[in-house]
Amino acid sequence: MLSIKVVNLSKHFKNTVAIRQLNFEFAASRVTCLLGPSGCGKTTLLRIIAGLESPTSGDIYFGDERVNDLSTSRRNIGMVFQYPVVYRGISVYRNIELPLLREKIPASERKKRVTDVIDLLGLGEVADKDITQLDNASRQKVAMARAIARQPKIILFDEPITNVDTSSKLVLKRALKEVMQQLKQTIIYVTHDQTEAMTLADQIVLMKDGEIVQCDEPRKLYLQPESTFGGWFLGNPGMNFFEGECAQAEGKSMVKAPLFPAPLLLDEAYTGDRITIGIRPEHIKVAASPSAGSVRGKVVDNLITIGGQRLLTVEVNDQRIKAKVDHKLGSSLRDQVWLELPLDRIMLFDRDGSRIHRKFAGFRAG
Ligand code: ATP
Repeated sequence: MLSIKVVNLSKHFKNTVAIRQLNFEFAASRVTCLLGPSGCGKTTLLRIIAGLESPTSGDIYFGDERVNDLSTSRRNIGMVFQYPVVYRGISVYRNIELPLLREKIPASERKKRVTDVIDLLGLGEVADKDITQLDNASRQKVAMARAIARQPKIILFDEPITNVDTSSKLVLKRALKEVMQQLKQTIIYVTHDQTEAMTLADQIVLMKDGEIVQCDEPRKLYLQPESTFGGWFLGNPGMNFFEGECAQAEGKSMVKAPLFPAPLLLDEAYTGDRITIGIRPEHIKVAASPSAGSVRGKVVDNLITIGGQRLLTVEVNDQRIKAKVDHKLGSSLRDQVWLELPLDRIMLFDRDGSRIHRKFAGFRAG
């Protein structure tokens, strides 16, 4: 299988810069999700790789081959779009077979490929049905099956389950996961849905304003964001952020912040005067009574989440902080609570929102 490399890739649409000087290699035989907010350049990047859009500058390589000048059809890729492309008036089987007929694949090989992919995607029961009898989710499965049956070097997915109803989404996501694991192909999958990316990706490329902010395996991206943007964008809700004042005392760097009962020492010196402290809502400990290291807060909102937890908004010294707790604890908490921020769960960032690789070593004595 091939890796895909982009080198100094840029794309401008008149005054809009959709892609800015990207350098990146998509690993062979892995699923890479392009994730980011609307307008960050995910689809443009995918379309350039597919040959549906030309870059303003830069190069694209499939393995060692520069493909800038190859048309889409000569790039040997499979594509699955947001809206399933299907041929009406013919059966599911024929829909999958049609591109193989066009490519003049011999009959026995054709049959094998189509029946294999029908099995892979669980389409056996509907194989003889007219495509128009299928719901949107099953049509999307057919579109995937058709792309896979061609045995392309690379498969590109552009938000394939965005327009599927919620109940079918889960079924389709599971099918996709299984198929992707079995295929072991180079796959790029565009989505703005973080849970989709978390479930499907071997690695996630997080994008913002035409640039790659971070690339990591899903869990690492979630737990170790390299920017406040990553901390904010991933999670529901995202990370809490608040400001701390940094100063030097007795040869050590010390941080004062409203959510801590005493100044904290950093494990290594940091010379900036301000520091941004980030923590995920589910990592905050909430209790009805005080403990060492906790601060008092006032519950200003207490909501049940979809996952059956409670999302609390707590005010501490004019700061609002969100904490996720289990339902039983959350429903028992009233008005006054005590928050503790475990030091090993805290991430630190500089003024520009870039991660500072320092940790809080503990509270300053005295
Ligand atoms: P979405 O999730 O909303 O599709 P995206 O991350 O895929 O967003 P792109 O569609 O790649 O983002 O768009 C990146 C930027 O380029 C946006 O500002 C968009 O308006 C602009 N853009 C994309 N295609 C064109 C075009 N054909 N003409 C002009 N501007 C475009």
